[in-house]
Amino acid sequence: MVNTGSMRAMVFHGAGRRLALETVPVPAPSDDQVLIKVEACAVCRTDLHVVDSDLTEPKLPLIPGHEVVGRVSAVGGKVAGFSEGDRIGVPWLGYTCGECRYCRAGQENLCERAGFTGYTLDGGYAEYMVADSRFCFPIPERYDSVEAAPLLCAGLIGYRSYRMAGEHAEHLGLYGFGAAAHILAQLAAHQGRRIYAFTRPGDTEGQAFARRLGAEWTGGSEQTPPVSLDAAVIFAPVGALVPAALAAVRPGGVVVCGGIHMSDIPTFPYSLLWRERVLRSVANLTRRDGEEFMALAARAPLRVETRRFDLEQANEALDALRAGALEGAAVLTP
Ligand SMILES: [Zn+2]
Ligand SMILES: [Zn+2]
Repeated sequence: MVNTGSMRAMVFHGAGRRLALETVPVPAPSDDQVLIKVEACAVCRTDLHVVDSDLTEPKLPLIPGHEVVGRVSAVGGKVAGFSEGDRIGVPWLGYTCGECRYCRAGQENLCERAGFTGYTLDGGYAEYMVADSRFCFPIPERYDSVEAAPLLCAGLIGYRSYRMAGEHAEHLGLYGFGAAAHILAQLAAHQGRRIYAFTRPGDTEGQAFARRLGAEWTGGSEQTPPVSLDAAVIFAPVGALVPAALAAVRPGGVVVCGGIHMSDIPTFPYSLLWRERVLRSVANLTRRDGEEFMALAARAPLRVETRRFDLEQANEALDALRAGALEGAAVLTP
């Protein structure tokens, strides 16, 4: 049954403004969309980049949020695979054209006409949202909705970054031990990788958190790990970590930048890149990443650390993330 009433949402109106609690109409699903009653929406660093205007082209007004878990409450005429009552997850990649050179080459994450949940499409900081069902995922049963929400981006982007680090990366460095790294560390350790976690210098609590989740060595980002790393993933949006990570990986090693935005990268000597070290970024996700990652998450016993906030507390959750005051992920529940 289509709910045609109104709902509460946290709405972004543009640069420099806090999100506003508003009552807006419940959106109606088009043919390919499902209407979802939101049960949980995790808060991602990308949301912070949107409200802080590091990302400059949001739709306005915008309902942020792209790590959404909820129940299907209505389906559009062409929806296949989901029915009313199903639990469903909505990720960052909300739409692709299916026709551009990237879509045709299996790189839909780079689609020229892509739509992004909580950026160019309204997201999950609300009681309801609509999403194109072709880009949604079923949620593994072992996770409740609050635990599952961070899997939709922190988990998924972490997984894509991990894939780009290479199948043979035994010694894996993680720079910035937040929502993404805390999930990836467990997955990678579960697969026999050895994890070296780098935090802000002096963040002994963050380092203890990383050790509890399987890191075999922890230190500040200025420290040198005890072995040369096969690969490193940088989740912190700090450009100065790029030369630091290049210095920590062995010849032929890979440094992956997992974030959508980073401060400028300082100049560094060519010798840090020389000997076939690779530096690359990761953009968005493909549906294949999502399917693979959810299948792994269904098997691996991931402990997802969350701190719950009410929907109305979205600004406070963003502040906590900005201040680095969270272990794991902030999750809003309407
Ligand atoms: Zn495309
Ligand atoms: Zn995200």
